[in-house]
Amino acid sequence: MSESRSTFIELVEQLAHLDQSPDTAPAPTPQAGELTATILVGDFESRCGNCRKPTLVQGVDLHTDTSGWDAEPDGGCGARFTGIASASRAVTAAHLRQLRPDLPIRDH
Ligand SMILES: [Zn+2]
Repeated sequence: MSESRSTFIELVEQLAHLDQSPDTAPAPTPQAGELTATILVGDFESRCGNCRKPTLVQGVDLHTDTSGWDAEPDGGCGARFTGIASASRAVTAAHLRQLRPDLPIRDH
């Protein structure tokens, strides 16, 4: 009885692993002298941790364009995003992982 129970737990753990990315993705390596920033994901918009201007979250490696109400091409600071953090209680770590599985989650 105890044997089948432990097998079941192992199975659940394996399944849990399947749809979760690792908690900490390796951080991208910035080039020497390059600015780095954390993406701060809020309820309605996301900001660059370096210049605090809005930024896109998905599909961006560098903060080149600002987004949001006053979107501005080349309005960003050019920092390389090396992490992602939540700026809102409503944004969970699981949500951050879903947005950017390639970036490590930082405490904010
Ligand atoms: Zn920026």
